[in-house]
Amino acid sequence: MSKEHVVRNYIAGQWRTAEAQGFLDVENPATGEVIARTPRSTTTEVDRAVAAARQAFPAWAHMSVARRVSWLFRWREILMKNEEKISRILVEEMGKSLSDARAEMKRVYQNLETACAAPMLQQGSKLVDCAGDIDGEEMHEPIGVFAAITPFNFPAMAPFWFIPYALATGNTLVVKPSERVPLTLEAITEFLHELELPPGVYNVLNGDKDASIALVNHPDVKGVSFVGKTDTCRIIASRCAELGKRCQAMGSAKNHLVVMPDYKQIDELIRNMSTSCYGCAGQRCMASSVIVAIGDAMYERISATFVADSRKYRVDNPLNPDVLEESLVIGPVISAQSQAFIHSMIEIGVREGATLALDGRGIRVPGCEKGHFIGPTVFTNVRPGMRIHQTELFGPVVCIMKAGSLDEAINIINNHPYSNACSIYTQNGYEARKFKLNVETGMVGINVGIPAPVPFLPFGGMKSSMLCDIKMQSRSAFQFYTHNKVIVERYWPTE
Ligand code: NAD
Repeated sequence: MSKEHVVRNYIAGQWRTAEAQGFLDVENPATGEVIARTPRSTTTEVDRAVAAARQAFPAWAHMSVARRVSWLFRWREILMKNEEKISRILVEEMGKSLSDARAEMKRVYQNLETACAAPMLQQGSKLVDCAGDIDGEEMHEPIGVFAAITPFNFPAMAPFWFIPYALATGNTLVVKPSERVPLTLEAITEFLHELELPPGVYNVLNGDKDASIALVNHPDVKGVSFVGKTDTCRIIASRCAELGKRCQAMGSAKNHLVVMPDYKQIDELIRNMSTSCYGCAGQRCMASSVIVAIGDAMYERISATFVADSRKYRVDNPLNPDVLEESLVIGPVISAQSQAFIHSMIEIGVREGATLALDGRGIRVPGCEKGHFIGPTVFTNVRPGMRIHQTELFGPVVCIMKAGSLDEAINIINNHPYSNACSIYTQNGYEARKFKLNVETGMVGINVGIPAPVPFLPFGGMKSSMLCDIKMQSRSAFQFYTHNKVIVERYWPTE
């Protein structure tokens, strides 16, 4: 890639140079080098994309469902063959490790596979004789044009929480990827282009918040799927509510890991927790960033061993050949702005009285002096209510806290504004059960560091982590992208 490359829009089955009201740099966060430019598409360009999707809708909605998903099968095949090429583009623009990028691609395939079950999952139901000689039927109809607006941290997976389901159910779609990582979806779309999907069924529109808002406001867009920060989520969800549109809106997170005093496999535990905290440099919505140890002895042990283990991670450019296949590598955070924010929060943590047991600021990666690196950072003696505990930092910064009991740990989790996920480590079935029944988060793990559901299950949080009613993936996605029309029918004999 080069800074001359202007990311293209994909509208009505054609690659287009966007009508743009300006351009934003796409940076390799490991080197600070500009690798492309994202056009800030104008409202005329938004209208063009939505018009293409609207025009394609009737024929696509009435095409047999088996035929619709045939494109998804073929897309999956061609993406699998080109996984390495796409993964490297993903690493270059986002900064995660190559193994994380490959793992992300697996989720792309799984979402495509799940959506290919549309001939089964889109089925309705019928009750014969629900009243005297009357039959009642529920059917799941496509709705129209949807928009999907996605974040930077999963340039491939996040769009695929939506694309396969919207298309399989007979809707048409305009996707607006994050302006910071548009190249992965551009590459993925190249492969669909080869498959000659009917023009307008799937469109990609590049831009920033102006393009997002224009899509949400567009009268022909019937619903919006959104993932990003909770602040942005509120804007999108409230606008959709005003306009009476369907909305999926997934927001920020701060995920807790609770360690019970009975847990014995400390080495496995520490590695499991640290990969959850440092994978993708802490920039996963399912990353853990708070460890709550129960009791003095476990707290002391976890604090010491976690800090020691954190020192083993190498911070580097993930495309450096020396670390390319390395799993314990931490890449950069997405931008200089994000790095500065995390640095400022570390400073706040120190002022709040937490103990900075490991400080990742000031780390230097030779040859990548302009990269946005932060080394593993650990605070101990963190108390609930401190800003470093309440705020999503989205970096490799971990807070370790102590609780006197499982009930106290559950309260810490339930009093937190973000409620995406949490996990407990215990061999005690009673306590595991108590935890899963009482924590208020959308996803719960037991002896699992990242309880991210595979696409055969729904994905989404609670409270400020999800400002809508329907989760992503699986049956939930089928519910979101279809209207459940109910038919009540009766016939009399003709003679
Ligand atoms: P972001 O909110 O800055 O951007 C997300 C998308 O919204 C982008 O496409 C962007 O162009 C658009 N956008 C930004 N500001 C907007 C505005 N004011 N109005 C309309 N559109 C706007 O988020 P990000 O920094 O790209 O992503 C990181 C965030 O996403 C983190 O908070 C992370 O926890 C969250 N996330 C959540 C989940 C989940 O499942 N809950 C998954 C992945 C990421």
